[in-house]
Amino acid sequence: MGTGGRSGPRPAKGAGGAVSGPCRYRCIECNEEAQELYRDYRHGVLKITICKSCQKPVDKYIEYDPVIILINAILCKAQAYRHILFNTKINIHGKLCMFCLLCEAYLRWWQLQDSTQNTAPDDLIRYAKEWDFYRMFAIASLEQTAFFIGIFTFLWAERPRTTKRKPHFILLLKALLLSSYGKLLLIPAVIWEHDYTPLCLKLIKVFVLTSNFQAVRVALSINRKLSLLAILSGLLLESSTVCLFQRLEWDVGSDCAIYKSQDF
Ligand SMILES: [Zn+2]
Repeated sequence: MGTGGRSGPRPAKGAGGAVSGPCRYRCIECNEEAQELYRDYRHGVLKITICKSCQKPVDKYIEYDPVIILINAILCKAQAYRHILFNTKINIHGKLCMFCLLCEAYLRWWQLQDSTQNTAPDDLIRYAKEWDFYRMFAIASLEQTAFFIGIFTFLWAERPRTTKRKPHFILLLKALLLSSYGKLLLIPAVIWEHDYTPLCLKLIKVFVLTSNFQAVRVALSINRKLSLLAILSGLLLESSTVCLFQRLEWDVGSDCAIYKSQDF
């Protein structure tokens, strides 16, 4: 643990030293604001800042390997989430969201191909398949949007109780997008198809929801109950959207139990 003066801790990308003005960083242990993560004493000597509130290093992860940080994030440790959200400048949430939606669209499209037998000419089949993929992408995007709107609406309604600070909904959106990285696992689950694939897909859904739950809790510094209710509100609106699609007799190709329970 790098609490003392030492030669060469390796600050993470985007993590920084002293800045003037408002506090830019947060202590990953107690969530107090901090001016700096480390101090540079020149000649390669850096010292990790100690939190004035909890007397622990403000951000021990700045000298950790990214793989270790990722493992800690997979284990849903609040400290790892605070490090990523508050003390780094990771800016991949837009691309990650697009890639996750493509993975989901591919999964649904693949299930659709599996369930339909087409006897039309080759060209027509090709165009129909391409159109099906775009349609699945649009449906997956709408469901994702409904999930986020459900969460935001609940937190907006509960905002007097959610946080002492002013709610930071841009940060919350970033946290939700980043914490949905588990959807990338859909692709290997589909490629290495197995009898257990439906179970894997359900486990992936549970993992993504757990990550979202932790991300909401950390981003807004709220308690577990409110975070859980926010996620359930999102799920409720998402399921309602799926119900609506099914009433319109669209084949949404959804795979998860939450959707199948809504079948008519
Ligand atoms: Zn602290």
